[in-house]
Amino acid sequence: MVYINGEWIETNDKLEVKNPATNEIIQNVSTVGEQETAKAIESAKNAYKYWKKTTVDDRIKYLKKVSSLLNDISEDLAVLITKENGKPITDARMEVKDGIDFIDWYIEEARRVYGDVLPASHEEKQLLVLEEPVGVCAAITPWNFPLSMITRKIAPAIAAGCTVVLKPASATPLSAIKVFECFHEAGLPKGVVNLVIGSANKIGKTLTGSKDVRKLTFTGSTVVGRQLMRDSAETVKNVSMELGGHAPYIIFADADIDSAVEGVLGSKFSNSGQTCISTNRIFVEESATKEFSQKLTQKVKQLTVGDGLNEETNVGPLIDQNSMSKILNQIEDAEQKEGKIVSGGKKTEEDSGGYFLEPTIIENANDQMLIAQEETFGPVAPIFTFKTEEELVERANHDHYGLAGYCYTSDLSRGLRMMNQLEYGILGINDSSPTVIQAPFGGVKESGIGSEGGKYGIEEYLIEKFVSIQ
Ligand code: ADP
Repeated sequence: MVYINGEWIETNDKLEVKNPATNEIIQNVSTVGEQETAKAIESAKNAYKYWKKTTVDDRIKYLKKVSSLLNDISEDLAVLITKENGKPITDARMEVKDGIDFIDWYIEEARRVYGDVLPASHEEKQLLVLEEPVGVCAAITPWNFPLSMITRKIAPAIAAGCTVVLKPASATPLSAIKVFECFHEAGLPKGVVNLVIGSANKIGKTLTGSKDVRKLTFTGSTVVGRQLMRDSAETVKNVSMELGGHAPYIIFADADIDSAVEGVLGSKFSNSGQTCISTNRIFVEESATKEFSQKLTQKVKQLTVGDGLNEETNVGPLIDQNSMSKILNQIEDAEQKEGKIVSGGKKTEEDSGGYFLEPTIIENANDQMLIAQEETFGPVAPIFTFKTEEELVERANHDHYGLAGYCYTSDLSRGLRMMNQLEYGILGINDSSPTVIQAPFGGVKESGIGSEGGKYGIEEYLIEKFVSIQ
């Protein structure tokens, strides 16, 4: 089902939504193309005329209802996320909590949208800066966080007075439908939020090509983000881009190695490594490599791989066969270039029809390997060795990517040097899970433009209007 102008619409064109743990169909979902997407834009445009004039109290009232409705069904939502995305149920519960937290945050942040009064250059003038909503927004979201990426975009957008057309990833539209059921039940006026599901290309082109869509907010790969920016150039849209990453995870010999090992477990293997801030390259100072690798291998061998619906699962399936093929290719390439697989390396033997890969550790990784260049998006941990800080900084800073980086050291001065020299939008120093709701989440270089979360997230949906009055 899609949701346009306050109505649920069924179509004859269906999309099969499959469980990546079993490859079984969970549900068939209606899809739409250019025509209905244009209707969704029209509906958001009409609703904007009214919505932008509502008071902050009105908008908060609806958001509070949505938050409460999502809370009521939080366990069902977690199960649905696990079914369509595969992640362990404990991670899915965390995602639901984070997703609701975003709504709660923007319920409060909506009250803190201020303008400015500037000192005038003429005694009879008043100079005002108004913060206004940017207008109709298109939001395109990925499958790796099928719920929280939606609320992270839509909550600040509607809190700011914008209206939205959302296209979720085709692999995971079911969580999106549930969120929209809550919008509907909360009585959000028709057209304020619209949901279109279907061909990325057809819907994407209609959204980017429309002069009525004033902003595009996207989370996904750099390749697609670049294309969307090109397509948005014609109408000079405001864009926010949360794109790919290639996170270095740096461990100096003076670090607390046990804590670094624990950190990698979360940063590399949760969500099966399918997170844009997942560790991609582990750099360990030469003298600590052996100890680190042994300790990590011991822990990784204890991870339970399986269907995310089992409470004890730590690592769920990959999203699909394409992902599996890409990662197996990276592993094979690493082996050919003298990498040593010390754990995992293959599909799991149990054949459930799902896309399970053994948690993998590759020792002796080098910068010529594919895994040193391409985002992995899987539970594969390559260990690189470095000798000096200068060499490390050079290698850790990526030519293209600049989303997240991690560094472990017990030397405060070194930690500060790393803070200043690592070119990433998000840095964890002795911290493998730095992201929190109040902080800006966003990348530099080709990892993105703009930030989501905290007070920064709502600014993406506001524009300044300067007024001089005499
Ligand atoms: P991922 O590797 O996370 O799937 P993608 O960038 O391929 O990253 O997809 C993220 C989102 O972008 C999904 O909703 C997908 O359907 C959408 N998408 C992919 N290609 C296009 C496109 N050409 N135009 C618009 N949206 C697209």
